[in-house]
Amino acid sequence: MKHRKRAFTLKPGLASLCLLASVVHAQDVADIPEAVRENVELLIQNGLDDNVGYEFVRDLTTEVGQRLAGSEAEERARIWSTQKLAELGFANIRTEPFKIPYWSRRVDKASIVSPAPQDMVISALGGSTSTPPGGVEAEVIRFESMGELRAASTDVVSDKIVFIDEKMTRTQDGSGYGMAVRKRRNCATTTSQKGGLACLIRSVGTQSRRFAHTGMMFRSAAVGDGPAAALSPPDAEQLTRLLENGPVKVRLEIEVETQPEAPSGNVIAEVVGRERPEEIVLIGCHLDSWDLGTGAVDDGAGCGIVVGAAHLIMSLDEAPRRTIRVVLYGAEEVGLLGGFAYAKRHADEMDQHILAAESDFGADKIWRFETRFGDRALPYARAIQRVLEPLGISPGHNLASGGPDISMLPRLGVPVVTPRQNGWDYFDLHHTPDDTFDKIDQGNLNQNIAAYAAFAYLAAEMDWDFRE
Ligand SMILES: [Zn+2]
Repeated sequence: MKHRKRAFTLKPGLASLCLLASVVHAQDVADIPEAVRENVELLIQNGLDDNVGYEFVRDLTTEVGQRLAGSEAEERARIWSTQKLAELGFANIRTEPFKIPYWSRRVDKASIVSPAPQDMVISALGGSTSTPPGGVEAEVIRFESMGELRAASTDVVSDKIVFIDEKMTRTQDGSGYGMAVRKRRNCATTTSQKGGLACLIRSVGTQSRRFAHTGMMFRSAAVGDGPAAALSPPDAEQLTRLLENGPVKVRLEIEVETQPEAPSGNVIAEVVGRERPEEIVLIGCHLDSWDLGTGAVDDGAGCGIVVGAAHLIMSLDEAPRRTIRVVLYGAEEVGLLGGFAYAKRHADEMDQHILAAESDFGADKIWRFETRFGDRALPYARAIQRVLEPLGISPGHNLASGGPDISMLPRLGVPVVTPRQNGWDYFDLHHTPDDTFDKIDQGNLNQNIAAYAAFAYLAAEMDWDFRE
């Protein structure tokens, strides 16, 4: 992209008024013309009253339901979305197909065999192998953390069912997930390297109800990863109490279906820019979900948010200068495969991607707006942050990574933003049977829609270069 110099007005004295001096040292704020500001205000007002986004996630989760990557249901979701986007008046609607390895559960059951026979609630992890027919039965060995399993000797683990009982910390920004998810990703591989038969983890989640959180684990063909499943939190505690009394024998039965290749795809729709249609402001979400719930907060909500926001921009008297591109990514849950497919397919248009954002953290309110802009583009970040303040959104740092499917774009030079949502309750629902539409509050969802509409419109209407 060509680098143009932009003029911005300096507003001396703002530093003393601004409580955010610790976050933002220089206080240069780019100017927004009155007519553009009026449109932004209109978008925010209409966003808070919007029904399109809420109805999108309601109908997607109702009329399609769960959308496991590579499944027939994910394909129905692509067809459903293209029809819905056409009804809403979007342009250039298309699906960009790609192939993925397919995995789905058929059976996942576990029980304590001795000393106190009883069933446990589990969920096989994505990528788990099947147990031998009839299941596997063995003594359990418990570890407090993934690190403890790594440090354990082969003698201790060999021929056992490993149980990692690590808890996840509840935080507003979801930062507890990064640590907690390591056991989900690595347990099977490490267990199998040490001669263990299967791996059970305490669910990666923050709730205490009797259902388990699924999610993807790493697979390493070289070591032949074994079966792995997550236990519901009460079952993890039950198992721990029994282990305090002596040896416990568990039976685990997992049967999965895999195919080397299955169809997935990214659904794309646009509001075409009136002056520079080739320049793209990308707002995305992922269309696939896990199979247990209906993928409402993960990530039907994100799709409702970006579709609702782009639709509001489309409803203005004239389109913004640049194109708003909505991308509903496929196969995010199984390794960001839609994100990688998009980056590959659009590799030589990356310099025309002005800005990218992905909504994939539930349906609660945005509380902070983070950017990853060039240093000289910080006045644009501040201008956007000012605009979002009435929505209760604070200015954030300039180290944003974007959402999962756009996490590869900063390396390709694309500026990204992270409108950071409140994640306090997100990991109560994430990847569980309880991730259903009734959990979504329309007022909170609409705050997201208003914010996405405002910043995406500004990025598309103003002549700003965020790479500067
Ligand atoms: Zn997600």
